[in-house]
Amino acid sequence: MTDAFIGLGSNLGDSVALLSEARIAIDQLAGCCIVAASSLYRSAPVGPQDQPDYFNAVLLIDTSMSAPALLAALQHLEQQAGRVRVRHWGERTLDLDILLYGGQVINQTNLQIPHPRLTERAFVLKPLLEISSHLTLPDGQSLAASCAATADQPICLHNDSRWSVVP
Ligand code: ADP
Ligand code: MG
Repeated sequence: MTDAFIGLGSNLGDSVALLSEARIAIDQLAGCCIVAASSLYRSAPVGPQDQPDYFNAVLLIDTSMSAPALLAALQHLEQQAGRVRVRHWGERTLDLDILLYGGQVINQTNLQIPHPRLTERAFVLKPLLEISSHLTLPDGQSLAASCAATADQPICLHNDSRWSVVP
């Protein structure tokens, strides 16, 4: 079994419902169980500004799936949620990213781990560090230091019982 961190994001449709349903679906994937879930966060969009705010969270899972199999399963869930992607860095119904997979480094065309933009984005780093405050990249780089460098990115906790009550 391998520990993996999954980033969840949405800013189209009923985002909180989409993220809560995705959380349940991830827990129900064969060979996957959720070990910890971050709070839900709300942040201003990166990229085009004329789009709704984003809702984000991170899950820590324990999985027997290989990283490529996990990516395929997450992409299937994105499709099931009716994923729409309007433009680059634009609005999307559901985005599921593998942020970290064990201590592995993977550089394939369709799969890079750690996720390439992980260290630049407060909406990933805040929930990630909420679950694991001393987390490092496979090369030992401190994610708390990266998070401190994103302090200018507006982000806040978003309380919603639909996310809080998910087991
Ligand atoms: P992004 O999440 O970067 O905004 P997309 O969700 O549209 O963009 O993903 C585009 C591609 O990113 C996917 O087709 C997938 O193959 C690739 N990808 C590379 N590394 C990862 C990863 N660690 N997790 C999820 N997708 C990844
Ligand atoms: Mg993605």
